[in-house]
Amino acid sequence: MSIRFDNRVAIVTGAGAGLGRSHALLLAARGAKVVVNDLGRSRTPGNEDGFAADEVVAEIRAAGGQAVANRDSIADFEGAQRLVEQAVAEFGGLDILVNNAGSLRDKTFGKMEMADWDFVLKVHLSGTAYCTRAAWPVMQKAGYGRVVFTTSNAGLFGSFGQSNYAAGKMGMVGLMNTLKQEGGKYNIGVNTVAPVAATNMTEGILPADIVPHFRPEHVSAAVALLCSESFTQSGVICSAAAGHYALVQVCSTFGLQLDPAAIAEPEALLERWDEIADASRLRTYPNAAAETGAILEAIQALRA
Ligand code: NAD
Repeated sequence: MSIRFDNRVAIVTGAGAGLGRSHALLLAARGAKVVVNDLGRSRTPGNEDGFAADEVVAEIRAAGGQAVANRDSIADFEGAQRLVEQAVAEFGGLDILVNNAGSLRDKTFGKMEMADWDFVLKVHLSGTAYCTRAAWPVMQKAGYGRVVFTTSNAGLFGSFGQSNYAAGKMGMVGLMNTLKQEGGKYNIGVNTVAPVAATNMTEGILPADIVPHFRPEHVSAAVALLCSESFTQSGVICSAAAGHYALVQVCSTFGLQLDPAAIAEPEALLERWDEIADASRLRTYPNAAAETGAILEAIQALRA
């Protein structure tokens, strides 16, 4: 089945460079009308006064696609609202939102200024929430939407010197897990990509010899899948890098069920920690209530 976006309107944030540019080019090549958002200046020698978003729009148009530029910051709610309003005004609706914009202020936690904490949380976590919140009523009204978040292995697994970034990136997983429930009845899918790619952000970090494997286009293939009408799952985290694709999940051990009529001593938990943490059997839950339900079942089984 071919994946096309004809008659679909898409916003890609931070699409003036790197991953966002690659996502915008792919969606447009497959028929989407794309709003290319980026506040950044061009990095093209000789065009330093120009804007990156305008260059990507020109690329899309030169290839026969449809696109307009938007230079608002998604790190403030008014900017996010203007972005969504522009999509609706220019193209008549909004079907796809790819939250991709981001930047870094790395420091070890002990040296981190709270201004750097706030800045990074604002761009990654709040910016994703602002754009999604602005898009939500449009998608609810249409009874259709595909929203993609961009997390990072830094948040999912931890990364030295990136506490602010990691917190923002993991925060959006919590946001997704709730929106997958709230968006379900409106046919709004909310999914997350966890990329690794050679871009400005990873310049000097990825060893030079492996850079050619980590083309942004590998990630864009997964983003296009998550944006498609055929992808009806919601709440998925798809890891995508260098041609490798995997599902990342939050999971729990089966754990240890004690009788809730008695309060355990912490020493007893220490003694039985191996049973609590036994990862030979793992399970996931569709929502928070299901986890509580599993505990109630375990208590019943204990008392039976
Ligand atoms: P990049 O620096 O090449 O591109 C990010 C773009 O976002 C830039 O063009 C920048 O101008 C724009 N941007 C920043 N703040 C903005 C704002 N407030 N409003 C609008 N635009 C803004 O980086 P990239 O590697 O392409 O990163 C894209 C996304 O992928 C980011 O969210 C990043 O955290 C995430 N990510 C990247 C990697 C990787 O390996 N490259 C790994 C994990 C996650």
